[in-house]
Amino acid sequence: MDETAYMRAALKQAEAAARKGEVPVGAVVVKDGVIVARGHNLRESKKDPTAHAEMLAMQRAAKKLGGWRLTGCTLYVTLEPCPMCAGAAINARIERIVYGASDPKAGCCASLYTLPEDARFNHRCQVEGGLLAEQAQTQLRMFFQSRRKKKSTITRRINNMKTIINTEKAPAAIGPYSQATQAQGMVFVSGQLGIDPATGELKDGIRAQTEQSLENVKAILAQAGLSCDDVLKTTVLLADMADFAVVNEIYGQYFTKDCPARACFQVAGLPKGGLVEIECIAAK
Ligand SMILES: [Zn+2]
Repeated sequence: MDETAYMRAALKQAEAAARKGEVPVGAVVVKDGVIVARGHNLRESKKDPTAHAEMLAMQRAAKKLGGWRLTGCTLYVTLEPCPMCAGAAINARIERIVYGASDPKAGCCASLYTLPEDARFNHRCQVEGGLLAEQAQTQLRMFFQSRRKKKSTITRRINNMKTIINTEKAPAAIGPYSQATQAQGMVFVSGQLGIDPATGELKDGIRAQTEQSLENVKAILAQAGLSCDDVLKTTVLLADMADFAVVNEIYGQYFTKDCPARACFQVAGLPKGGLVEIECIAAK
């Protein structure tokens, strides 16, 4: 096996970490050409600040080899080791450390310090960086990108009073407003038109628009951890009061128990030429 194969095994470990929502860092320990242990970052799952990929891989290697000395072993890791892991590698008498991407914020094999090669320690590890660095970097970048995306769709706390609630399961706001705000356990859902969040288009006809509008309300409530049963008050805005009977019928399918208070208005017009808009206030 050549070196890239070992690093590929480490990258696989990093993938496993990402699937668990962990920052994707993976490591393997190799002795005499054989992978003796693998590990991936489990800091969140284990609630353990020391559960780095390298630490877990070295612990497993020591167990397997029957001693804490990992003499003659090479540690392959996708990201430049931090001070803790570089220190552990020195203590474990690791012979070589081969890493992928550099870590300018915490790396202690070249970036911030060169701990493993510091002549003042009684043991030194050879260090080599940059092996399949691009792959490791791409993994990390994609992980953080998708995490940022996720964050933007969930609730965001502004201050003690106000939390912003947004979800991709309801249409994006057409102007400077949030899909909902939450304060002191109360949730205020903005008026929802019958726009399909998948296409951004208004549905056809009063029946389809009413259903979609209520589905949007439901999705936003769900994002806040609530359901239609938690709604205290709704406001129904109609472009034509002649549609009331149809709207009322569909509305009744969503609010089935302890029905909320309601106000209904005919208005001169609704955004995008919508026929109906529904807003509500809910509480946990
Ligand atoms: Zn570390």
